[in-house]
Amino acid sequence: MGLVENVLKKLVLDEAILIEKIKISASVFKIRLQGKSIKNTDFTPGYFLRLGIGIGNDNISFKDKVRSYSVWDINKTAGYLDLAIATDSNGIGSQWAINCKVGDTVYYKWKKGNFLVDDSADSYLMIGDLSALSHLYIFNRNLPTNKQVESLVYSHKSSDFFEDIDGSKPFNFHNLEANPVDAIVKVIKEITPKMTGNRIVYIAGDSRVCVELNHYFRNELQWETNKIKTKPFWNPDKKGLE
Ligand SMILES: Cc1cc2nc3c(=O)[nH]c(=O)nc-3n(C[C@H](O)[C@H](O)[C@H](O)COP(=O)(O)OP(=O)(O)OC[C@H]3O[C@@H](n4cnc5c(N)ncnc54)[C@H](O)[C@@H]3O)c2cc1C
Repeated sequence: MGLVENVLKKLVLDEAILIEKIKISASVFKIRLQGKSIKNTDFTPGYFLRLGIGIGNDNISFKDKVRSYSVWDINKTAGYLDLAIATDSNGIGSQWAINCKVGDTVYYKWKKGNFLVDDSADSYLMIGDLSALSHLYIFNRNLPTNKQVESLVYSHKSSDFFEDIDGSKPFNFHNLEANPVDAIVKVIKEITPKMTGNRIVYIAGDSRVCVELNHYFRNELQWETNKIKTKPFWNPDKKGLE
C-alpha cells in the first residue's frame, strides 16, 4: 500500500466494520457498517458515504478506489448505518458489494451534498432507479406523514426491487428498460395533475434521466428550478461519479 493510501486511512478516512450483509433482491445487497463516527455524526437524510473500497488494493487505479453510497438508514445509538448497493454496473463497487464479508474493515468519508430532504412542500414526486431507491426511501421516511408522496421507481426486472428498511412498500415500481425517459414522461403526465399545493420532484440515478427530466419539468411543465431536485448517481460514459 502506498504512502498516500496510508495517510488517507490513518488521517482522512473514518473506519467501520461490516457487521451484516444480506441479498435483498436479485441484484441488490444491504450492507450494515458499524463505527465510532456514526455515533457522533450530525446526520441529515440525504447524506452519503464515500467508501474507500479499493484502499489497500494495489491492483486498481486510484480513481477506482472510491465509490459513493447513500445512507439508507442510521442508528446513531448503536453506531451503525445501512447501505443498499445495486450490482448491475459490474464495476469495482459492484464487485466489492458481491465479495465483501462480515468482519471486513471499511474506510469512508461522510459527504453531505445538497440532495437532502426538504419538508417545505405539500406534495412530492420521487423518481429513480435501483441505485437511488434507498436515498428516496430515507427521504420518504423523514417527511411528515401529512405529505402527499407519488413515485416512479424503475428497473428492467421485478425481482430487482426491494422493500424499505421497515418492510414497507411505499413506492410504485415499474419494469422499464435502461434510460426510459419517454415511458417516465408518460407516467409523469398522469401523476403531476394529482399533486396538490407546493410541489417538489426528486430525480436520482442515471444521469441521462436526470438531465432529460430536469428539462421536461422546467420547459414543458414550467416548474420553478428550486422545486426540481436532481442528483446523477452514475453516467453511462463514466466510472464512478463523485
Ligand atoms: C451521491 C451518490 C450516491 C449514490 N448512492 C448509491 C447507492 O445508495 N446505491 C448504489 O447502488 N449506487 C449508488 N451510487 C452509485 C455508486 O456510487 C456507483 O457509481 C455504482 O455503484 C457503480 O459503481 P461500479 O464501480 O460498480 O461501476 P463503475 O465502474 O462506476 O461503472 C461501470 C459501468 O456501469 C455503469 N453503471 C454504473 N451504475 C449503474 C447502475 N446503477 N445501473 C446500470 N449501469 C450502471 C457505468 O455507467 C459504467 O458504464 C451513488 C452515487 C452517488 C454520486
